[in-house]
Amino acid sequence: MPEYTNPDPVVEIKDVRELGHDLLVIPNHRVDLVPNIGVIGGTHSVLVVETGMGPRNAEKVLAFAAEQAEGRRIYLTTTHFHPEHAFGAQVFAGEATYLVNKAQAEDLAQKGESYLAMFEQLGEPVARQLEGVALTAPDEVYDGTYQLDLGGRIVELRPTGRAHSKGDQVVAVPDADVLFTGDLAEAGQFAIFPWFPPYDTDVSGLRWIKVIEQLAAEAPRVVVPGHGTIGDTQLLTDVRDYLRELRDETWRRRDSAMSEEAIVHEVRALMIERHPDWTMREWIERGVGCLCAEHTQHLA
Ligand SMILES: [Zn+2]
Repeated sequence: MPEYTNPDPVVEIKDVRELGHDLLVIPNHRVDLVPNIGVIGGTHSVLVVETGMGPRNAEKVLAFAAEQAEGRRIYLTTTHFHPEHAFGAQVFAGEATYLVNKAQAEDLAQKGESYLAMFEQLGEPVARQLEGVALTAPDEVYDGTYQLDLGGRIVELRPTGRAHSKGDQVVAVPDADVLFTGDLAEAGQFAIFPWFPPYDTDVSGLRWIKVIEQLAAEAPRVVVPGHGTIGDTQLLTDVRDYLRELRDETWRRRDSAMSEEAIVHEVRALMIERHPDWTMREWIERGVGCLCAEHTQHLA
């Protein structure tokens, strides 16, 4: 895991974007390890999407959500179990109902502690935010798709199956045609492949391509990525095209029996040339590693 050298991963409640009636996003201001956070309201309930990393960030998010809720019931969901998305859920206990898909609950139970340990190694600014984290199991776990009724507004919680993690889910607000993708899509940066063999090899480039193809085909009006600037369908097609390129360029070289090291070197240079403005280049080689492993499985 690359060492973290960016600004402190702190959620700043400012420049809140209103994507529709009672539909707010606290933008991540392009700070690494801060997610875009949603607050979606109906007549009797409000749904918060993502907690921010650690209890201090989550306290800010909860305070903001409670202010918006004005007494309405609060729900919390997270797009997947990764620390900046879900490791603040403890703060919501007793204040909100924490609801996630089954595969995500299993990810948290199986890998939460190891991710906490891994992220604490990323440097002082990250460790500081993780201080006092107590991993918190969801209050409710659902199977299949969940239609959450907020009063006059239904929000769809839709697990996608294994892609960026085993337990990814997207959150759709059909009346406003808004889609929260979690880390299935990031804007202005290379796709995050949490490929950390032997500790975590759950990310699947091939499944991810299938999932993002499906989401892009739905053509949502507004796309809220896990990280980076809010966009539209183009954001999904950009990620789809990048993942396809990464697969094709990796596999072409793998077919000619090139070493993984040489593939990383060449594909990295090629992807940077094609996407010179994208940040987080360190994720390219993780993606290549994942796709090399999937190439082997594909042939087996
Ligand atoms: Zn993630």
